[in-house]
Amino acid sequence: MLLEVQGLQVRYGRTHAVRNVSFGVQQGEVVTILGSNGAGKTSSLRCLQGLIPCAGGNVYFDGNEITSISAAQRLRRGLVLVPEGRLIAISLTVHENLQMGAFCRDDRDVAGDIKAIYERFPNLGARRDMVASVLSGGEQQMLAISRALLARPKLMMLDEPSLGLSPLMVERLFDLLAALHQEGLSILIVEQNTSMALELASRGLVLELGQLVAAGTAQELASDDRLASAYLGSQ
Ligand code: ATP
Repeated sequence: MLLEVQGLQVRYGRTHAVRNVSFGVQQGEVVTILGSNGAGKTSSLRCLQGLIPCAGGNVYFDGNEITSISAAQRLRRGLVLVPEGRLIAISLTVHENLQMGAFCRDDRDVAGDIKAIYERFPNLGARRDMVASVLSGGEQQMLAISRALLARPKLMMLDEPSLGLSPLMVERLFDLLAALHQEGLSILIVEQNTSMALELASRGLVLELGQLVAAGTAQELASDDRLASAYLGSQ
């Protein structure tokens, strides 16, 4: 198991946002976390990245326990979050944003990796010296994913990557994620667009008010009418 989460708990004061959630992601797998607003999806990902403390439970990544190590150390080990809202630095250039993604690396291949990103995303290459605020929403999401790729992730976690994108850009986004998966990247994705997420993922889990209420193969979850009406929206 690449990522193993045992009994994860997240609290904000008296709010118990994630309650005893356990799941795993195997090497090369795509897993999706679904659930309605306030279910604890973002809190789970932020806790796994080390951005907020774990109030209970244990997290193992790539064979080691990482429950208490810093976000930067997790990044160095290949656990990388593409946050909700992308959070790119809009006053910095495209190139500077990409360089930021590699800040945890001390090898000399960063320039080569950025060149490969520009070849893969010519739109970003053409705008390398422009501030990121001029990019469209879709291009900003590509930049956020590219920035995460520059950390050389073993597991990429994405929080609502399709939020605010046009239907065409959502298609392109999921094509890109499918291609990255084909290339061997493991992915843990939180999505409101449940049908696209269940198409990409092999397995999924459903959270409701911080608790794990269902887990199974993508096919099982997609064909469960009870889940569709209760938790997964009508998409
Ligand atoms: P959404 O799709 O709306 O982002 P979510 O499933 O990602 O929902 P979380 O954002 O993890 O859910 O929120 C889970 C619970 O924790 C909610 O009750 C929310 O109000 C609460 N919560 C989230 N962030 C904070 C915070 N910084 N301080 C206090 N409570 C918070």
